[in-house]
Amino acid sequence: MSILVRLERVTCAYDRTPVLVGADLEVGEGEFIGIVGPSGSGKTTMLRALLGAVRPLSGTVRRRPGLTVGYVPQIETVNWTFPVTVLETVLMARTAGRHLPWPSAQERRDAGTALARLGLAGLGRRHIGELSGGQQQRVFIARALLQQPQLLLLDEPTAGVDVRTRHEVLHLLADLNAEGLAILLTTHDLNGMAAHLPKLVCLNTEITGVGPPEAVLTPEVLERTYGAPMDVIEHAGMRVVLDRPGAYGDNVVRLPQRGTA
Ligand code: ADP
Ligand code: MG
Repeated sequence: MSILVRLERVTCAYDRTPVLVGADLEVGEGEFIGIVGPSGSGKTTMLRALLGAVRPLSGTVRRRPGLTVGYVPQIETVNWTFPVTVLETVLMARTAGRHLPWPSAQERRDAGTALARLGLAGLGRRHIGELSGGQQQRVFIARALLQQPQLLLLDEPTAGVDVRTRHEVLHLLADLNAEGLAILLTTHDLNGMAAHLPKLVCLNTEITGVGPPEAVLTPEVLERTYGAPMDVIEHAGMRVVLDRPGAYGDNVVRLPQRGTA
């Protein structure tokens, strides 16, 4: 397996406090990896380090020469009042930074093909802010694919989308991966997303575990990652992670009964 990107003892900080410490990671051709960890654990920072958008304080990021990387940001971080259509958003992949930003006929056709592939045919003229969260997510995936990347990085691609959209996104990514695209995503969703992926990286500033779900979705690794005890059960051949009852004292919230005085 040829290595696309490698982090070697990478430490990153925005001011003085390191938010990613001593990370070692290899992303190989055709891999499909999920990064999991609590909020603030350094997931986005790790993606940005792989992308080359943040410069490590120490350590090295090695990218295969000529590697193209597509990046799909977390949709909550996008400014939806920006007056741009779906087609224009997708075409930015090709035209950004060019002296003359007007797309060629071929580029418009490619963008149309990418939108159709993602089930967005006919939505090209819509304002991006008019779409649902799942559709917006797919617009950004279409934009990244137009760059014909060998590696696709996605930040929380299923955050804030409904169950059906989550399934659609996961199936789409699985299809792209089956065609040879290496994928690395971050997710908060252990059961709906992470447990379905072939390989996970658990993160809590430092990497706390790397391996298939069977190896890392364990009470030991989860406690190191989330700092709280969790239980793991087996259901239909899959790992299912549960908050442990009573981990924070009595966690049963008793609401007042309606209809009683
Ligand atoms: P995650 O994606 O796991 O929630 P992040 O990588 O976004 O974690 O953030 C890790 C830590 O770095 C957090 O404490 C966050 O507040 C901090 N951080 C993230 N981005 C910046 C920034 N641009 N400037 C300063 N601190 C930041
Ligand atoms: Mg994040």
